[in-house]
Amino acid sequence: KKNKILISACLLGNKVRYDGRDNLIDSDFINRLHTQGRLIPVCPEIEGGLPTPRPPAEIQDKFPLRITSCIGEDVTPQFLEGAEKAVEIAKREGCCCALLKSRSPSCGNLEVYDGNFNGTIKPGSGATADELMRSGIPVYNERQLDQFIEFVELLDDCEPEAQRQTG
Ligand code: SF4
Repeated sequence: KKNKILISACLLGNKVRYDGRDNLIDSDFINRLHTQGRLIPVCPEIEGGLPTPRPPAEIQDKFPLRITSCIGEDVTPQFLEGAEKAVEIAKREGCCCALLKSRSPSCGNLEVYDGNFNGTIKPGSGATADELMRSGIPVYNERQLDQFIEFVELLDDCEPEAQRQTG
């Protein structure tokens, strides 16, 4: 049985973004994983109880975490709940890693917007990416597709070997 992968629902074409759109990625590898039933889509912001569409949100502070929408609403609790649920789902499904949307205040793993709602990017990570990484689940974004593919293929290759050794 091949490893499953948690994926940002918007990358699979689900219209769950703040503006009601998606971030569908066009990749044969992703399509193949999807056909094999190995992708577990999750939108942490929806899991946390936020609606679509919703005002965009950005991280204001990291310690302690504070995330607000562009109209000043504190949405930190929803983001934290979404992160917790995403980790729960990843663990329940036995996901080996996650492929998440870059730059999102939930899903971003390397960069986020700087909190000023003017499109400026800075190094950092979102609430869900953080929780997953803290739980030991590697996170890739859609701009790191080559690295992601390499990692998944490596695990897929290792699996029969590991099974032989253990049983
Ligand atoms: Fe996509 Fe993540 Fe934003 Fe949901 S929270 S729309 S999955 S980037």
